[in-house]
Amino acid sequence: MDYKKRYEELLQIILKANKEYYTEDTPVLTDREYDNYMSEFLKIEELHPELVTPDSPSQVIGGKTKSKFNKIRHAVPLMSLADVFNEDELIEWDKRVKKEIDNCTYVCELKIDGLSINLTYKRGKLVSAATRGDGTVGEDVLDNILTIKSIPRSLKNDDDVEIRGEVYMPIASFNKLNEERIKENKPVFQNCRNAAAGSLRVLDSNITKQRNLEAFFYHVPSQRFSTHEQALDYLKENNFNVNPNIKKVDSLNDVLKYIEHATDLRDTLPYDIDGVVIKVNEVSKQNELGVTAKYPKWAIAYKFPAEEVTTTLRDCIFTVGRTGQITPNAVLDPVRVMGSTVRRATLHNMDFIRERDLQIGDIVVVRKAGDVIPEVVKNIPERRKNTIPIEEIKTCPVCNSNLIKSSSEIDLICPNDLCPARNINSLIHYTSRGAMNIIGLGERIIEDFYNMKIITDFTSIYKLNERKEELMELEGFGSKSVENLLQSIENSKQRSLENLLFGLGIKGIGSKTAKVLAKKFETIDNLKIQELSDLEVIEDIGPILAKSIYDYFRDEGNIKLIEELKDLGINTSYLGEKEKNNDLITNKKFVITGTISEYTRDEIKNILESYGGNVSTSVSKNTDVLIMGESPGSKKEKAEKLKITIWDEAKLKEMSDIFTKFEKN
Ligand code: NAD
Repeated sequence: MDYKKRYEELLQIILKANKEYYTEDTPVLTDREYDNYMSEFLKIEELHPELVTPDSPSQVIGGKTKSKFNKIRHAVPLMSLADVFNEDELIEWDKRVKKEIDNCTYVCELKIDGLSINLTYKRGKLVSAATRGDGTVGEDVLDNILTIKSIPRSLKNDDDVEIRGEVYMPIASFNKLNEERIKENKPVFQNCRNAAAGSLRVLDSNITKQRNLEAFFYHVPSQRFSTHEQALDYLKENNFNVNPNIKKVDSLNDVLKYIEHATDLRDTLPYDIDGVVIKVNEVSKQNELGVTAKYPKWAIAYKFPAEEVTTTLRDCIFTVGRTGQITPNAVLDPVRVMGSTVRRATLHNMDFIRERDLQIGDIVVVRKAGDVIPEVVKNIPERRKNTIPIEEIKTCPVCNSNLIKSSSEIDLICPNDLCPARNINSLIHYTSRGAMNIIGLGERIIEDFYNMKIITDFTSIYKLNERKEELMELEGFGSKSVENLLQSIENSKQRSLENLLFGLGIKGIGSKTAKVLAKKFETIDNLKIQELSDLEVIEDIGPILAKSIYDYFRDEGNIKLIEELKDLGINTSYLGEKEKNNDLITNKKFVITGTISEYTRDEIKNILESYGGNVSTSVSKNTDVLIMGESPGSKKEKAEKLKITIWDEAKLKEMSDIFTKFEKN
């Protein structure tokens, strides 16, 4: 698209959002959507500086003040903060700072998610309180500020000074307020910031009083202090609430550790934070760095990655799983969330779609907490325009068989055992890491091989060596990759019984149950002769699973398959030895920190999960093992404090049977 047209389009979106957010306290976009539009807008301005005007959103702070309040001119402008969204951008900012000044220390603070307030004290007495407004002129909200008891009415000395901080609504007050509003049939506030702004910027201070607002103070724009730390001490001496988590640090590395610490702290705080603010400590150096039209150059806001974003639900496609289960999947406009791009998300079943009233064309909220699979949380009904309902399908999208309902009546099932989609998915499952771990047979390749009739069932995988020449002629296959594939197939013959049981895809048998069975019965021949009553009494296996296992081994086709696999040299016994290492992983909780030279975090996570381990993002007393690479950050200290086992790279090498078996696909 023509850049001028896009620029104008973005300008209109941003101006509208600014008005909704700053002036009316009713934002329609999420902050991350706004930030994305803004960074695209800034990029165009950077490439085409001729477009920048003095009233561009890149040059002005906040929004226009509402006319219902008296206006107050700030003695020193209240600026916004430039922001960064990841470590690399922060490192770049640090470089820019260090280029201008020789050396400095930083003060790290939590970025409180509220709205800024500027208090003016004359001869030691509080005389006015103003919102930020457009940075130069704010709204007089003194009456409302006086409802916050913790704010000092006077200072220890007769100082003339401005004091800056953030008014916020504690999470408990926010929840209580919204509960009451639901009862009264009033619209709820979207978040704590929004509720704080809506409670401070009302003409009736009785309303503010009921809302239990609080405030932290973090800045004194005065040359009387030589460091920011001294200004914070002054605030504490004068009984202002100063956040207890503020920390002075000497290096960028310590800033990064602070961010990690703040990320862990976030969920435990009684108020919302949306990032970390990093400030140059020395006032002389702050002066040297100066300001832009909108931001001080001596401070930066590091924004936490968004866990929830909005995007458009473009389509719903139905897929067929290996058991014939039909799953509706959301096709989304690609959107970045928690560091990865999301294009698809499962919609589980038709009930899920109906309960959330999802329609094609809806703007939907997508969430990804930590490393978990993204999910569609809800639609935004206010933004619905020309949507199309999602219809339940009646026939299999792959083989056209009439669909049936599952026994629970929730899922749709393709009953055709020969449905290609079912077969392809069974093969994908059989070759996966937790099962036979065949490297080089990715989903695409299996699909292609199935369609070309190169692979038709499990046993045909082991006959690929007879078609070596043919494989080498295929596009994308050299002799090396064919050799590697055949070697991996050969290696897979030595997988333990639990891997095979899991890979066979017996209904309801996940990797954990497969392990229980393998450990107990040791060989597949022993397992297959068990009576239903013997299976039912095993711990962790209820009557439904027992029946499923029993039925599987009563099916002639399945027995024939197992015999064929045995003839092809596939191990069908439990290899207790490897179990030793599995014991270290299965059902254990892991956290990964630092850089591990041989693997990405995702790769380690995949390996651990394939052995039934769980990986989470923050260290707690429930963590069993911290896997630690270089530059581990604060997680290491926390793990040491909690006496949690730490595995370094040497330990991973020691466990080579698990960790080197894994090769990049
Ligand atoms: P900001 O909120 O990103 O950061 C600056 C503010 O942080 C300061 O003014 C101050 O009030 C606050 N702050 C909190 N803790 C602080 C601390 N310890 N030290 C210093 N300041 C601290 O910037 P902004 O200009 O107020 O707003 C821009 C942001 O607002 C955007 O990035 C976006 O996320 C959001 N926004 C959203 C919409 C929308 O439609 N959703 C519209 C406009 C703006």
